[in-house]
Amino acid sequence: MSKIMAINAGSSSLKFQLFDMPSENIITKGIVERIGLKDSIFSITVAGEKKKETLDIPNHDTAVQILLEKLISNKIIHSFSEIDGVGHRVAHGGEIFKDSVLVTDEVLNQLEKLSELAPLHNPANVSGIRAFQKVLTDISSVAVFDTAFHQTMPESSYLYSLPIKYYQEYGIRKYGFHGTSHKYVSQRAAEMLGRPIEELRLISCHLGNGASIAAIKGGKSIDTSMGFTPLEGVVMGTRSGSVDPSIIPFIMKKTGKTADEVLTILNKESGLLGITGFSSDLRDIETKASEGDARALLALDIFSSRIHQYIGSYAARMNGVDAIIFTAGIGENSPTIRSKVLTGLEFMGVYWDQSLNYIHGEEAVISYPHSLVKVLLIPTNEEVMIARDVLRISDEMFVLS
Ligand code: ADP
Repeated sequence: MSKIMAINAGSSSLKFQLFDMPSENIITKGIVERIGLKDSIFSITVAGEKKKETLDIPNHDTAVQILLEKLISNKIIHSFSEIDGVGHRVAHGGEIFKDSVLVTDEVLNQLEKLSELAPLHNPANVSGIRAFQKVLTDISSVAVFDTAFHQTMPESSYLYSLPIKYYQEYGIRKYGFHGTSHKYVSQRAAEMLGRPIEELRLISCHLGNGASIAAIKGGKSIDTSMGFTPLEGVVMGTRSGSVDPSIIPFIMKKTGKTADEVLTILNKESGLLGITGFSSDLRDIETKASEGDARALLALDIFSSRIHQYIGSYAARMNGVDAIIFTAGIGENSPTIRSKVLTGLEFMGVYWDQSLNYIHGEEAVISYPHSLVKVLLIPTNEEVMIARDVLRISDEMFVLS
């Protein structure tokens, strides 16, 4: 038995879950928010009860120190040596990292170089790794990448039709994200269907604030909707998803904004927020839609129709599909969106039960038994994948050494 910590460090937050492995029971979890700002917030669940404190946490180093001290003061562990490994979510592994990896100095250097591709995320992820390494000097850290699962995509999926030199010289290609989630739900889907993953063609719809669709054949990602950055693909909470790139210089000329400013609009002011003008949160939009708000209704239509189209295109790509998976905040919880996405897919053998579609937040098969294509709801669990990878990678290293 061992205790493994799964960490998701953002620029001003650090989420943690401590697992007992291999049972995968969560010992504790929590979040440090507003790191580097005034009145940082530390939350931790102790014996099922959430405790919240306002503290001064100027950086990730302090966040990690406080977190480890709180584990001791709340008697969750008695000494740091009880933690056997720490797994870190890392946004971008480029083409270097096709799987999770044990963190060494060389790996840290490579992650820093990859910050060029993920300037908002990788530096924060690296800060998180370094902060743990300072305190827990003897235990293994493993980096688990959002991009790694999609490294199996063929060239025909990941290359843009730009001059090839931009790929060769600058690494401009589709990388894809949410890989840990797509991998987790595809494995669970195979278990739920009782079939070997090698023979399955799956379409995984990760629909949260960020959203991406993946085509998974034989357990391997062969295409996904996010691209060089998470901006590409379907409509998201505040991201536009795919748009004609000529729109960018056009807005620049019309408004006098810089390219970076327009990009911020595409990332932060578009998507559901852009269309509705009042919220990026699907719950707010569903409430307004139920009151007849025209733009809320339009946002629901646009959001679901893009996903519907991806499903059709990925089914074509794989010469058929065995199951469609819904996951993440919206995928797990919104019967409205699922219904709008699935309606009209009967032509390809998708028959789902309206009465089961109201299930939310738990695993379920909502297709009819006779449906050629199964429809699955699977709550994602990126943290448990991180903990599993810490064990797997540490064991592989142990065998090799
Ligand atoms: P993130 O990408 O930030 O991890 P989440 O996976 O938590 O996002 O998903 C957030 C989205 O899920 C929000 O749009 C939220 O409104 C939506 N959501 C959460 N619960 C429900 C619900 N019960 N009904 C409809 N939408 C929901």
